[in-house]
Parts: sequence; structure tokens; C-alpha cells
Amino acid sequence: MKHSTLDILIPLPKDVILAEGHIALRSLDTLFAVEAGRGAAEEIHRGFEWLRLPVRDVASQADAKICLELQADMGKEEWRLQVTMEKITIASGSSVGLRYAANALSQMAFYASQCGTENAYLDCGMVKDAPRFDYRGFMLDSVRHFQKPQTICKFLRLLAVNRINKFHWHLTDNQGWRLPSTLAAKVSGHGTAEDGCYSREDLKEIVKQASELGIQIIPEIDVPGHSKLLITAYPEYSCEHKPTYEFCIGNPKSLEFIKGLYDELMELFPESEEIHLGGDEAVTDGWEKCPLCQKAMKDKGLKTMRELESDFMSELCRHIASKGRRPRIWGSCNGQVYSPDIMLQAWLDIREPLRIAPHGNKVVYSVHTSLYLDYPANAFEPQENWMFALPEEGVYMTDPYVIWENKVKDTIIGPETCLWTEQVPEWRIFQKVMSRIAAYSEVAWTNPAQKDYHDFCIRKATLATAGWNDYIASN
Ligand SMILES: [Zn+2]
Repeated sequence: MKHSTLDILIPLPKDVILAEGHIALRSLDTLFAVEAGRGAAEEIHRGFEWLRLPVRDVASQADAKICLELQADMGKEEWRLQVTMEKITIASGSSVGLRYAANALSQMAFYASQCGTENAYLDCGMVKDAPRFDYRGFMLDSVRHFQKPQTICKFLRLLAVNRINKFHWHLTDNQGWRLPSTLAAKVSGHGTAEDGCYSREDLKEIVKQASELGIQIIPEIDVPGHSKLLITAYPEYSCEHKPTYEFCIGNPKSLEFIKGLYDELMELFPESEEIHLGGDEAVTDGWEKCPLCQKAMKDKGLKTMRELESDFMSELCRHIASKGRRPRIWGSCNGQVYSPDIMLQAWLDIREPLRIAPHGNKVVYSVHTSLYLDYPANAFEPQENWMFALPEEGVYMTDPYVIWENKVKDTIIGPETCLWTEQVPEWRIFQKVMSRIAAYSEVAWTNPAQKDYHDFCIRKATLATAGWNDYIASN
């Protein structure tokens, strides 16, 4: 069955009510937006200009064929778009929802204009939409391969079009340190993109852009493991002062050094409510042999190095919380137990949220076999022995609640897809993402009872044919 211009959308909206009649696309030549709708109006201008459809801003609602208004009783991301034979009216509770609706209108216009705008019409009716999950995340690794600040800004736009509202940014690891830092000056280079480091000005620009697009940044400094580059420059903070992957967790000086690094991070990201501390894949061998770590374990009455690691990370989390931010750690796959106020990110397997749930922690769902976009989408993409095949359908069929909705629905706050970049140079991140991000947007946004992979494929192919992918890739 042929889609109407109202139900061609990706992600698929909650409610579509078709009505009799249609309106000529070319007649939509005037636009009125409330102040909060300025960003949304720019989206409409950009989309309609791409289609060579001129739209003029007007000062009064009565003169406008496209109207953008705020509605106090609607949610921040909830939006409504009404098409009548006279005009289009868009409403939302905030500028973010208006922006989502504006992109939906552009998708409709692209679909209607496949053969040109001369005889293009939009069907009358109403779309009412709201997200399934308030948390819809994307993690990008900017360490294994660095991306220029302009690439990050373009990437944020792609996330916004796909209604992703959390950008988890992996900024430090064994191979690199991407932050301007006084405390870690030896690894910050001159703090420019040429050194593989974002400058303070770059980060200001990125933070501003994310905020305009309704995206929260969750910056990550990964400790106590994944820190080889930093420790090679500052070996005094490792066990036996050797360049290892892990910090010495028995040395109070390393704790103070790391707290200082997070203070710098929080200054660089003043709007970030959440801070990610990593906490994954540390090896205990060096700690076992270290007199300082052994002493700290005994002094604290702890029995294992994993307990000492939990204690170390918990202290850092308390530090983050004392500054009014929420701490997050990668899932406790080595049996660490964290206090319930620490958010955890499950990545290992579908049962991980269940294992964490008894402690009452909130969980972000990033299970690698469903949501790691570095895994190959097809047989032609580079792959490593730790990777699984992850075609688009595999992403599409993902449900963070798996089969345990009644057990985990108060635990899991939403999904987050991850792009690790060991195999992905800067110029290929859009290739990696474009093949599966639309599928992911329906995982995060659309009510699962309405999802249908066959119908999704038709909508995606139809919009691609209409030029939508070329348009969003050009932004
Ligand atoms: Zn040690």
C-alpha cells in the first residue's frame, strides 16, 4: 500500500490520523514562528530551499501558511503537526519538539516532491508524536580515531535529525587524550585539532551547537584502566611507577590527580548533567603486586582488589555528585557493586541489566551484539575477531526491555548505540552510521507495537529515493 505523506516518516510517529483533502506544497510559502521556534523555522527553510521552494517569514500568524507555536500543556519533546487544506500548524511544549516536527515536515515535503514540486501535495490530517524513551543516546569514540571539531558538529546534526538527545563522548583512552588540560599538560599538546586535541574554543562551539539541537553531552574520562597514554606521561600515578594501563588505586595522590581531571572536565562541559567515569576492563595484576594497593585494601578492611576498585570508583563518583553532576560507569562485569545513585551502562549481554537491577541502579542499555555500530553491517566491512555481524535488521529488532519488560522497565532508562573507532577513520564515520541510524532511531523513539521492519524498509527506501539521505548527509 502506498504511504500517505503523513505516515512516511522516520522515526514512525505515535498517531497518524488521515483526513479528506490535500494542500499544494507550493502554496506553503509563508511561515510564522514564535521565538522558541526559530531553530525549527531554520530547519524548514533549509529543507524547503533544498527543494527550491521559497518560504518567506511573516510577522503574523494570520498571514502564515506554516505556523509554529508553543503549547504549555505539551511535553518538551512531544509534538503535533496538523495539515488542513488551508495551512500547516505545528505545536510542541519546547523548541526541541518544534525542531523534530520541522524535520518531519521536511520529510513529508521530500516524499511529495519526488518528481518535482509542480504537482506536489501534502495529505490532510494530524500527526501526534512523543518518544518511547526520554533517554536516546549515541556514543562516539574520538580517541582511537580523532574527528575534527567540524566533523563533530556535523555529526551532532545527524543525531538531532534522528531524534537522538544524548551524546556520550569517549575522550580519553590508551591511545589518546583529546581534552585541553592544565593538569595533564604533557598529553594535551598545544590543545589544537592538529595535535589531535580539542581546544577550549572548539569545545565551546560544540557545547553551544549541542545545546541548540536539544542534545546533552555526556563527556567521559575513562579510569582506572584504559589510561596508558596518560600514565606513560605521568608514571608516578601507576603502581611501581611504570607505564601501565591502570592507575595505582592505592595511592591517594592518583585519586587527587584524577579528581582534578574531572574538575577540569566539568568546567569544559558546564551544561552536562552527567559525567561518565569509564570504569571498565581494568586488570588487577599490577594492583595485586603493589604495596600501596595491598596496604589500602587492608586498611579499608576489604578482601579483594575488585572491592578496592569499587571503593576507588565510588569515591570518584561521590566527588562528581558533590559538584551537582550525575556519575555513570560502564556495567559491573567484574562483579563490582555500586551504590544505587550511580548510573550504569550495560554493554556485555542482555542479562547484565538484570544482574545490576537488584541494587537499584538505573541502567543505560548498550548491549554490543545489538547496538555497537563498529560491528560490520555487511560482509564487505572490515571486521575483527571480537566483532559480531550487525545488519540493519539486527539493530531494528533490538528492544532494551528484551523479554523482561515487567522486571526492567523501571531500571532501564533508554538505549545508547556506540561507535568505537579502532577500525573507523574520521572520513568513514558517516558511512558506518548512515546504514543503521534510522533503524536505531525507531528503537529509541517508536512504540514497539507499531514497529514493522518491512514497512520501515519501504519508508527508508522511499525517503532515500526522494533525496532525503543526500540532504541530511550534506548538512
Ligand atoms: Zn598500586
